[in-house]
Amino acid sequence: MTTTTCETCEKELVPLNESAKIDSKVYCNACIEAHFSDPKSLEGRSIEKVMDPTICFSCSKDFGDRELRKISVYPVCDDCEIMIQNRSFPTWVKGFFVAILLIVIGSWIWNWNFYQAYGNFREALESFSTGDVTNARRLMSLASDEVPEVDDLKTLSRYFHGIELLKEDKSNEALAELTKCQEKLPESYNLQSLIIEAKIGSSFDNKDYHGFLDAAKERLAMDSTSPVSMTSVASAYACLYAVKGDEEDKNNAVRYLVKSKAIDSTSHEMKEYYSIVEYRLFSRNIIKREDFIKQFPNGWNTN
Ligand SMILES: [Zn+2]
Ligand SMILES: [Zn+2]
Repeated sequence: MTTTTCETCEKELVPLNESAKIDSKVYCNACIEAHFSDPKSLEGRSIEKVMDPTICFSCSKDFGDRELRKISVYPVCDDCEIMIQNRSFPTWVKGFFVAILLIVIGSWIWNWNFYQAYGNFREALESFSTGDVTNARRLMSLASDEVPEVDDLKTLSRYFHGIELLKEDKSNEALAELTKCQEKLPESYNLQSLIIEAKIGSSFDNKDYHGFLDAAKERLAMDSTSPVSMTSVASAYACLYAVKGDEEDKNNAVRYLVKSKAIDSTSHEMKEYYSIVEYRLFSRNIIKREDFIKQFPNGWNTN
């Protein structure tokens, strides 16, 4: 355990986790409650809670002098780390962030903002798990505004916003939001594949068809048997062919279409996707899925 000295009552050997810096001055918990019993008196002050690097944030075990590895800013022991890594989203968030907020609430029991943030955080996760991304993003960003000092809430709010933008087909903005979350989320969040998804949409929107092809191939490399990934490579080649008229691009597009049809030649979604790419190869006209459906409500074929 790491200890510190309270700069107000001069008590020594105060456990670091039972202290905080307010306007750069160290206070023990007793002094905080004595001096700031009214939460309003903390408004506008800088509050810094330094985590003891020798105590596991998740299970509270004390490791003496040994400094633990950190996830984000939280020291975590080996056992807890394994447990956390093995939990998949969104259980991971539930377990981990609820633990964070409970601890925060435990020591800042009188801080109304944390209560509000905690409530909004939990509701945001519930919304996310039922697929209501817009509401999840709204609640998470409220939680983050209530306790701006908790960086993880900011990251989660960006992450949800990125997913919301992807769903709304605003790939450029989605890419910007998701990129800001890099290295701040555990692998189970599938951030990398969401970023590739956003790159595919954004390069298409910007008519950067080489970028589109690179991103589509990157996604195919992550999942080599997905017909959607395979057809998006065909789609990128078809865009290049439409623009430059190079037969090799056309042949490549056809090659990936054939491969993809070998996996899925029956689903409505894929059949529609194939005809969009085939129409592009035939007409050298690049249109989006929505416009294609409007133009050819009964589907399109060369006959
Ligand atoms: Zn004190
Ligand atoms: Zn632990």
